[in-house]
Amino acid sequence: MRENLARLLALSCYRVIALPRWYTCLMLRVYADHGATTPVDPRVVQAMLPFFSDKFGNASSVHQWGQEAREAVDVARERIAAAIGANPSEVVFTSGATESDNFAVLGAAYANEGKGRHLIISSVEHHAVLEPCRFLESRGWHVAYLPVDRYGMVDPDDVRTAIRDDTVLISVMHSNNEIGTIEPVAEIGRLARERGVLMHTDAAQSVGILPLSVDDLSVDLLSMSSHKRYGPKGVGALYIRKGATVSRIQHGGSHERNRRGGTENVPAIVGFGTAIEIAVASVEDEASRLRRFRDRLIEGLRHIEGAHLNGHPTRRLPGNVNFSFEGVDSESVLMALDFQGVAASSGSACTSGSLEPSHVLTAIGLPPEIAAGTVRLSLGRENVDGEIEHLLLVVPDVIESLRGASRRMSKAVR
Ligand SMILES: *Cc1c(COP(=O)(O)O)cnc(C)c1O
Repeated sequence: MRENLARLLALSCYRVIALPRWYTCLMLRVYADHGATTPVDPRVVQAMLPFFSDKFGNASSVHQWGQEAREAVDVARERIAAAIGANPSEVVFTSGATESDNFAVLGAAYANEGKGRHLIISSVEHHAVLEPCRFLESRGWHVAYLPVDRYGMVDPDDVRTAIRDDTVLISVMHSNNEIGTIEPVAEIGRLARERGVLMHTDAAQSVGILPLSVDDLSVDLLSMSSHKRYGPKGVGALYIRKGATVSRIQHGGSHERNRRGGTENVPAIVGFGTAIEIAVASVEDEASRLRRFRDRLIEGLRHIEGAHLNGHPTRRLPGNVNFSFEGVDSESVLMALDFQGVAASSGSACTSGSLEPSHVLTAIGLPPEIAAGTVRLSLGRENVDGEIEHLLLVVPDVIESLRGASRRMSKAVR
């Protein structure tokens, strides 16, 4: 009862007065934006620390300092490789999944220009894949954008018909960062292999949360990011299958077996390797825990009037919940949730702030007026049962109160 009163009070106040800063210390705060980024695991921080000071060597140096750093980078590389069933020599460290995606798209395109200038990607790719493709288009390349069904799934048959003799790369993400849908990458990978076309998948949202192997997926290139899986920001990797012809895009020294110039970010790489090893060790348990949270949230929120679940009902990321609510706009919902101590997002962190519906929501055929009220809750390792219950109280309240406010406003105008 007291709690309900407090909530009511807060909900009616927040439009009127700015509460003092200390107020936020008193309330339950729930971080439900793990699709944007995750906190660094304390064990990861501990593993990184020595590499800033005592073990500061350049991994390319021949002396002991350098060799110490080199060994740590090699251990991290083995851990990343093990997580995806690859050979360590096939893992190249990058500055994150954005660079990995650019590397895959531009590197495959430049290296195979002799074969043709045609690429195939899904229409729900992350901007890190879309934008290098747009860049290539501006230089005379042709890009086929695969449609998706209302759940955001690519149909492998569409890939089959899109492949041409001059196709140099197919890129379909492993799971979608906004709506959580898991794509049929293994089937598409097999088609690509039959036709001798390079296959890339952006697995930034999947690695360490869904068990996967590059051989089962039949992919030649796979992008990973550290900060989506409790590692530091600014580091990631690209898996490049042995024998795949891909040009380097960052020219410089002969680092990373001549595939990416630049002194290795040793502490970040060590952190990334540790984070992935931790994630993989408990991948099944954590995924089933998050699926339970996800399904409880979906079950509770789908009863809100005018609520539409986006993404596939079952083939979706364990922690991903994405709804469009009629009659509200995402920005107001996010602000009201933030005021209640809840961190959510309107889809992807990269498109929030713009008024256009995201290309993903457009691709699944959502009308713009419904897409305008889209909210993504993405759950992760620190979330506990009580927080899910809190979300089940706060989210419907916020939606209801915003709808009430806009009804009152339109009455007042009339
Ligand atoms: C976050 C994300 C990226 C970008 O990764 P960074 O490491 O932040 O550059 C790319 N693709 C997908 C699917 C993502 O979720």
